[in-house]
Amino acid sequence: MAEKITSRSQDYARWYTDVVQQAQLADYAPVRGCMVIRPYGYALWENVKAGLDRRFKETGHENAYFPLLIPLSFIQKEAKHVEGFSPELAVVTHGGGKELEEPLVVRPTSETIIGHMYSQWIQSYRDLPILINQWANVVRWEMRTRLFLRTMEFLWQEGHTAHATNDEAQEETLRMLDVYTDFAVNDAATPVIPGRKSESEKFAGAEASYSIEAMMGDCRALQDGTSHNLGQNFAKAFDIKYLDRSNELQYCWTSSWGVSTRMVGSIIMVHGDDQGLVLPPKLAPIQAVIVPIWKNDEQRSLVMGSAERVKVALADRDVRFKVDDRDEYSPGWKFNEWELRGVPVRIEIGPKDVAKEQAVLARRDQPGRAGKSFVPLAGLADAVTDMLTDIQSTLLSRATGFRDANTLEPTDYESFQEAVAKGFARAWWCGAAECEEKIQQDTKATIRCIPFDQPGGTGLCVVCGNQAQEIAVFARAY
Ligand SMILES: [Zn+2]
Repeated sequence: MAEKITSRSQDYARWYTDVVQQAQLADYAPVRGCMVIRPYGYALWENVKAGLDRRFKETGHENAYFPLLIPLSFIQKEAKHVEGFSPELAVVTHGGGKELEEPLVVRPTSETIIGHMYSQWIQSYRDLPILINQWANVVRWEMRTRLFLRTMEFLWQEGHTAHATNDEAQEETLRMLDVYTDFAVNDAATPVIPGRKSESEKFAGAEASYSIEAMMGDCRALQDGTSHNLGQNFAKAFDIKYLDRSNELQYCWTSSWGVSTRMVGSIIMVHGDDQGLVLPPKLAPIQAVIVPIWKNDEQRSLVMGSAERVKVALADRDVRFKVDDRDEYSPGWKFNEWELRGVPVRIEIGPKDVAKEQAVLARRDQPGRAGKSFVPLAGLADAVTDMLTDIQSTLLSRATGFRDANTLEPTDYESFQEAVAKGFARAWWCGAAECEEKIQQDTKATIRCIPFDQPGGTGLCVVCGNQAQEIAVFARAY
């Protein structure tokens, strides 16, 4: 941590990259478009994983693992799927020093190979539903990449389920969108808008796609997760059939859903400030950092004695903490570093605090004097856990307030264009692809989703003025 990070107002993109690199979340790899996730960034991802994985298991899913390499012919079996993914495929043509008889693709997603296996595992209605999730890496040959947000190889989870009826597949699709919403709101402190994707924004091969959409600190949108009802498209392409109760052969109905390391980019951009990262306590790798302050050996042993008491009390409450007792850095330097790295609570203990049996707590979400308080050592662990809870809810309400303040409801095209230049627009849309396209050409904004939360009634399309049944959320997106 040497240079100062660029301010958000000066250059938001530069600010983002500065934070990712200086907080030591990730770095560029030798291959263009790839990313090295450093230990601090990986610890954050592990907490995202843990929060999601727990919810997947609570809703009846099991984890499994499928291979990285997929026969090229598999990808070609579903017409829309191949059309959507072909430009992004990494293809292996040689292995063991020889040209392969059939090229293999590095998975861009696993519907095909999992569909192939399901066709062998499913025989009758008794085998259904199958509810499997996989934690894996995937590769999509992206030309324009950014750390966490868009990288050639990224980490994610992909759920793949098979059901006896369309109703069950649809119920599963929406259940998992709910799971994502719950994680985003309660763990990532990120208010998200759940809704349906328009036809043009659907997943390649899906009947219907749904997403959760969040507003970043620059008022642009980021899709935090998606869930797809695949209908019988993949079941037909991969021959996933079952014998129903009356002994008739039927095609299955399948779903898939995913959240990736983009979520880390989202957390950075939703909560970060000009000092750097601000992490929601539930996901922060380090929730509290203890910084002992001393000038000589006598003071050192005094404050380390207090620090030891604090350690024991925090460990007892399962707080994730770190004691920064490095000799070679000044307290001020350490304060800056832990602020940059987004640690929610800093605990300062100096000789005067030892004498008063107290410590100083500093909240990351309230920089400066306003966020500082003096707390007796006896009640410190309680004070820290209460503060973590309060920071978690403060971050959510702050992000919600920010999003709502930057969301407009324009009713004419001129004010619509102004709205999407600055933030989100909730506006009536007639459903025509022409209107959607015109908006994209004129403003670079896209339909993020058609939110479940609808005003009711009908209105006039913000582009063509025809009758519209639904409002959509429009924004420029990452
Ligand atoms: Zn229209």
